[in-house]
Amino acid sequence: MKIDLNIQPLESWIQTGKEPLLIAGPCSAETEDQLVATAHLLAKTGKVTALRAGIWKPRTRPGEFEGIGSIGLKWLNRAKEETGLPTTVEVATAKHVEEALAAGVDILWVGARSTANPFTVQEIADALKGVDIPVMVKNPVNPDLTLWIGALERINNAGITKLAAIHRGFSSYEKSAFRNEPMWDLAINLKTHAPGLPIICDPSHISGNRDLIPYISQKALDMDMQGLMIESHIDPSVAWTDAKQQVTPAALAELIANLTLRKPET
Ligand code: PEP
Ligand code: MN
Repeated sequence: MKIDLNIQPLESWIQTGKEPLLIAGPCSAETEDQLVATAHLLAKTGKVTALRAGIWKPRTRPGEFEGIGSIGLKWLNRAKEETGLPTTVEVATAKHVEEALAAGVDILWVGARSTANPFTVQEIADALKGVDIPVMVKNPVNPDLTLWIGALERINNAGITKLAAIHRGFSSYEKSAFRNEPMWDLAINLKTHAPGLPIICDPSHISGNRDLIPYISQKALDMDMQGLMIESHIDPSVAWTDAKQQVTPAALAELIANLTLRKPET
């Protein structure tokens, strides 16, 4: 399979001096206080490069919390002003892209459910034409490497050269300790097909459970992935979404400090 992505190095759009590159923040922005307080604690660790928060949440069933919506963009801006952390949100429609761009969000990401739908990805890509903003593309929920590559190509064809992939694991019917099977081979294959493409691992959505996050994070670093996206909440026990997999900023700092940066030579 030939893929020809025109991409700029990661260093051109995100600070990579801190090792490992860490994007952290709550699964969902819930209240202004929760988001801003979490951001302050994350910034204080000195280990976080960008703040993530979902404001439009793709939920499996209706009636669950579907995200705080556009008001969250204001909260993200306040968190950025007060902490200096650049911000990133998930966009799933052209309207989300327009609103996020108008609000000054620094980095966008495409979620796993959107990547699985070429119409949605194309709609997002069309809304990005002529815009210079970094975009991270999560793998599709299903283990289909070509679908992941296709989404990256669509965004790249729209002129987005600050591009990265996020590996968040894949749905599987197999009984597993993981919420989403890592299927590391797929990420390795992506690297082989697109050698210059940065890949960031999302251990939170692979694990589904905070106890497994250190193991998955270490594995990602051992595989030379370029960074980690980890969900962190000021009080995970009361989180409105993904409570079991979120960690406090203090636990996150400890987890990162315990990672070995380079695989020991054998
Ligand atoms: C998220 O990052 O909170 C999220 C919804 O992730 P995914 O698209 O990987 O399921
Ligand atoms: Mn989540």
